[in-house]
Amino acid sequence: MNWETLTGQQKIVSRVLRHALERQELAHAYLFEGSRGTGKRQTALLLAQTLLCEAPENGAPCQQCRNCRRIASGNHPDVIRIAPEEGAATIKKEQIAYLMKEFTFHGVESAKKIFIIEEAEKMTTQAENSLLKFIEEPHEGTLALLTTDHIHQLLDTIISRCQVLTFLPLTDRAVESALEEAGQPHQLARLAAELTHDESEAAALCADPWFAGARAQVLQLVLKLSNSAEPALPFIYEKFSPDFDSNQRMIIGLDLLLFWYKDLMSLQLDRTGAVIYDDQTDVLRNQLIRLSRDQILQSMELIMSARKQLDAHVNGLSVLEWLVIRLGGIR
Ligand SMILES: [Zn+2]
Repeated sequence: MNWETLTGQQKIVSRVLRHALERQELAHAYLFEGSRGTGKRQTALLLAQTLLCEAPENGAPCQQCRNCRRIASGNHPDVIRIAPEEGAATIKKEQIAYLMKEFTFHGVESAKKIFIIEEAEKMTTQAENSLLKFIEEPHEGTLALLTTDHIHQLLDTIISRCQVLTFLPLTDRAVESALEEAGQPHQLARLAAELTHDESEAAALCADPWFAGARAQVLQLVLKLSNSAEPALPFIYEKFSPDFDSNQRMIIGLDLLLFWYKDLMSLQLDRTGAVIYDDQTDVLRNQLIRLSRDQILQSMELIMSARKQLDAHVNGLSVLEWLVIRLGGIR
């Protein structure tokens, strides 16, 4: 995360924090709240880097120096992160006690110490109460950053002692550019961003080799569906269905298929910019010649109805058979 990206994704949060940094008027405790995958944790790290970077440029961290790199990898002695322990449902009092002990020392390497409490709503009441004491009597040079997806599960007393910053859900395009910035290929980033606005979920999808394979399978399927000389059912049994071996994966498969028909519709309406499979426009245009708007709509309805059957836990392969036979009939 850098400040430009944050400004693109969370304009108000970025403005409030930059303003406070410029005037050296940071609050001593912030609560970053908003749904999953909106960049709260990355923003906490960005703020820590901004405060501790050895070679900042125009107030922005270099992301290269030893401090920036150690903060990014979670190894800076003055940036302490607390989250529920692996597999645990709560942040325990002992974890907060450890944090409080750390608070009593000055920064190891500088006068600053930054504490990040992730999923703060998972603190036990005891943990919250011990944290409260700290927030009420802040130590000089320390900054507490809390993040939560569920602000209403936090004690009011904690909320009222923090400056609350709300992170809004990201748009498709913001997720897409964040993924591309992280090095994901454009096509996968675009597809994942269309599936979910949760940046971390989208990143996990892109990182899973299965996802690129799923895209390739769907592209093969749409070719077979549009060409009567190539029967789709054997392809479904032999190639397609083994890759979509759970209803959860099949749902993603159907969404990817639905995007194809949405793309046909976008082209039909001359909305080229909305096309998701934007490296396939030639194939799309080719199919569009032979399909009416009604046929595209019918296909989309069939896919949505198949998706509903999957939600109702009907066996994935039977749903797919049902769908492919009907989609094949529309041409
Ligand atoms: Zn730096």
